[in-house]
Amino acid sequence: MIIPPFRSEPTLDFADPNSRRDFEGALQRVAARLGRRYPLVIGGELVDTRDEIRSCNPAHPDQVVGRHAVADATHVEQAVAAGWAAFRSWSRTPVAERALLLLRAAQLIRSRRHELGALMVYEVGKPWDEADGEAAEAVDLMEWYARQALELESRDKMVPWPGEATQFRYLPLGVGAVISPWNFPLALTTGMTSAALVSGNCVVLKPAETASTTAAWLMDLLTEVGLPPGVLNLLSGRGEVAGEALVDHPQIRFVAFTGSREVGVRIYERAAVVHRGQRWLKRVQLEMGGKNAVVVDETADLDLAALEITRSAFGFQGQKCSAGSRAVIVSSVYDELLPRVLELTKAIRVGDPVDSQVSLGPVIDGDAEEKILDYIQVGRGEGDLLLGGGRRVGEGHFIEPTVFGGVAAQARIATEEIFGPVLAAIRARDFEDGIRIANSTDYGLTGSYFSRAPERIANAKDQLHVGNLYINRRSTGAMMGVHPFGGFNMSGTDTKAGGPDYLLFFLQGQSVAEKL
Ligand code: NAD
Repeated sequence: MIIPPFRSEPTLDFADPNSRRDFEGALQRVAARLGRRYPLVIGGELVDTRDEIRSCNPAHPDQVVGRHAVADATHVEQAVAAGWAAFRSWSRTPVAERALLLLRAAQLIRSRRHELGALMVYEVGKPWDEADGEAAEAVDLMEWYARQALELESRDKMVPWPGEATQFRYLPLGVGAVISPWNFPLALTTGMTSAALVSGNCVVLKPAETASTTAAWLMDLLTEVGLPPGVLNLLSGRGEVAGEALVDHPQIRFVAFTGSREVGVRIYERAAVVHRGQRWLKRVQLEMGGKNAVVVDETADLDLAALEITRSAFGFQGQKCSAGSRAVIVSSVYDELLPRVLELTKAIRVGDPVDSQVSLGPVIDGDAEEKILDYIQVGRGEGDLLLGGGRRVGEGHFIEPTVFGGVAAQARIATEEIFGPVLAAIRARDFEDGIRIANSTDYGLTGSYFSRAPERIANAKDQLHVGNLYINRRSTGAMMGVHPFGGFNMSGTDTKAGGPDYLLFFLQGQSVAEKL
């Protein structure tokens, strides 16, 4: 099969009136579809339950985006069995056929890109450019993993041996769980799921409660392009019930999880237990949180640094694992740079992201709002509140973009993931102190370093211990196939989504030698 080389999907320019008009049209069409009910999908059958989870618009919590069936342990049992039943033929389906299916799905996402973007505006409060960027990322992930699967199959791997016909090949693992978060409900769910599927595995997908509708649309889309029944099973439901039952299940072969550190660590522990009847050690990938630093030294372009600090901290309300929630600034330029950050932050327009002019929407739900406000309270005792600090009066979970100055490197707001629009500015003595501070949390996901001095940049590349390091640019916005993504330390198992090795997690190598 010959397919053209990978090319990143371009994002839309909403300065173009045609793009704006198209997206507005999609927002209206999707609005007419809100509030529908979505069943579980097990072995291709639609299964409804009496209980339901309501996924609501965080800008208007009374607006129901989707009503979802709720899986329990019995559904987990059925879905795992359906997966194994489908595995027999799916694992033997030629890689080229599985890759083609992914490419068809990517094409379908392209053709529904505005609708998918619009759905994420309603379901998780993404501003337009973030929602569109995510749809493009989902396309990239499918396109990338389709090519990677073909490449792995054809790679000439081992040295020939006289008198033997030898082979080294990759086999799928079996049936696995994909447990996804709400903040990239399309891209991350697509990424983990499509990588598992193209490798020949079957999947039971448990999406986040607050983003169940996007996952249901993805399930429909994959069914539409011809994924056989049982290869992908959708269990909307609660993490502590369906998620936990999946992780514990003895017939689950692997768990691919993206989400919080707290839940990730719990999954790691539980998946290590070998249950009665279990014939393998579960393979687990955990991509978790971050407390990412943007370090600026005195040689840096301060206008650029101010812009990128602001974008890193407040893009999608700071609800990105890659968000730059710490600005670590060398003392000699701290007082010059921070006012520029404050100016840019003041200009951020907060509101309902259906409005194209809004760049900061709501946080995901009432629990998140409460947690972020609690951290802001903690921050009042740990630094100087320079901007924001409150919630917007009225409906919706809106929190003002908030900046604390003079924060100590080991303060709670400088070391714990807040996952909201809160930036902690930290003064560093010099560039070495800046790097030391950047490395001083348990996390190690992304980081940025701003400098004009080549030796400082070389030093930062050598010293900053993060999975995704950026020089003179923001800490967010990894592109699949370009910036393989995954963190060190408590940010996760560093499986590097969108990278050259990602599929290996979903495969096991078999060596075959035949005496001639
Ligand atoms: P979360 O951990 O609360 O939930 C993630 C998923 O786990 C959801 O589907 C949830 O239902 C499920 N879950 C909850 N409890 C469970 C349990 N006991 N057993 C099994 N499953 C369970 O995370 P979230 O709030 O959805 O997402 C935000 C977090 O994800 C942040 O910490 C963010 O940094 C992180 N994240 C990391 C990356 C990355 O690539 N490193 C990307 C996106 C988000």
